[in-house]
Parts: sequence; C-alpha cells; structure tokens
Amino acid sequence: MRLILLGPPGSGKGTHGAWLSERYGVPAISTGDILRAAVAAGTELGQKAKDFMNRGLLVPDSLMIDLIEERLREPDCKPGFLLDGFPRTVPQAEALDGLLDKLGWSLDGVLKLDVPEDEIIRRLTSRRVCSQCGRIFNLVTDPPLEDGRCPDCGGQVIQRDDDREETVRKRLRVYEEQTSPLVDYYGARSLLIPVDGNGAVEEVRGRIVEALRAAGIG
Ligand code: AMP
Repeated sequence: MRLILLGPPGSGKGTHGAWLSERYGVPAISTGDILRAAVAAGTELGQKAKDFMNRGLLVPDSLMIDLIEERLREPDCKPGFLLDGFPRTVPQAEALDGLLDKLGWSLDGVLKLDVPEDEIIRRLTSRRVCSQCGRIFNLVTDPPLEDGRCPDCGGQVIQRDDDREETVRKRLRVYEEQTSPLVDYYGARSLLIPVDGNGAVEEVRGRIVEALRAAGIG
C-alpha cells in the first residue's frame, strides 16, 4: 500500500495514519513529526525548519524533498508507506513523482479527509500531544491524566506551539493557498479518494476502510 493522506491540519491524518499503519503493516511517515524531532535534537535541519514551523509557514521545498527521499529509501518502506503531511505543494508532488519513478514504485491513492474549518479550529486548539511518545489527545473527547501526563508512557502532555489559535488560522490559509492545489493535481491522475472526516474517530475509520476497499486498495 502506497498512500498519501491529504487534508488540512487537524483533519485527522495523524490519528488515522497511526491506525492504518498498524492495520496494513506499513510505516506512517509524518514529515511534521520528523521535523519536530529534528528541532528537539537541534540538528542542522531542525535549526533551519524551526522558525518556519513556529510561524505556521511551510518549510522550503528543497529541504522537504531531500528529507522524504532519504526516508523512502529506508528498508521499512519497501512493502509500502503512508505519507502524512507530504507533499504539501505542487513542486513537492512533482518531486515525489520523480522519486517514485526512480524507485520503480507508483502511488495507490490519495486519501483526502474533508473537515469543515470551524471543526478544525475546535479540534486543533483543544489538541494536546505527549512530548514523549507522540500520542495525540483532545481536551474534550480524549483527555490525558488529571496531572497532565500520558496514560501510556507517563510523559508530559503539552500543546504544540503551532496549535495556538492565531497560528492555526495561519496554517489553514497556507493550506488553502499552497496545498489545496494538490486536489486537482491528484484528481487529474484519478488517484483521489475523498472521505468525510467529520465525526467520531471510529465512524471516520469505518468510512476510510470502506473507501479504500471500494478503490481496490487494502
Ligand atoms: P504537521 O505536523 O504535518 O502539521 O506539520 C507541522 C509543520 O511542519 C508545518 O506547519 C510545516 O511548518 C512543517 N511541515 C511539515 N511537513 C511539511 C511539508 N511537506 N512541507 C513543508 N513544511 C512542512
């Protein structure tokens, strides 16, 4: 299975990607997670990316394209992969096409999660994440322990800097301007699989499995 998860921040790419990864036995590759780890480790990539990320802007294409090439060449991607957060621009999508050609692979589909903007803002401003294991929480529907720790690993659960409302609004504008053209890009290649991403996690999960089956994937 080689799948792209497409959708605005907060549409559920991370949540559903983690589950799909387990179900289909392929790695979910989140470029946001890779960048956050690089920032935390203070690597050269992290230093270059940090400022863009905190401002809700995209990290330059050249950095992202090198990053994804390196990642897709790792052996765990041989059976397939889910891309969460890449590509985010048309040049990134073109570079991915070139890279897949080089590797002799092709995409099975682009799963597009549709969620209304007011719901996204609600989700992201109440989203919290474990600083240790990365588990995603929601203050309303799936809160961490009362002491603010993760029930899985005991790590501190925090709010991402870029999940504050002003930055969320900026990220949504960036999505509209720079990422939404990918809907036409992949639509023209008949790869698009739209799914209504609004509703409870299990409900959306059911729709995803059904849509993938209907598309002959998984
Ligand atoms: P995410 O966790 O996917 O919301 O990503 C968090 C931030 O990382 C984004 O707001 C961007 O600053 C950066 N980022 C992640 N993936 C990409 C990408 N493919 N292209 C450019 N910037 C990215």
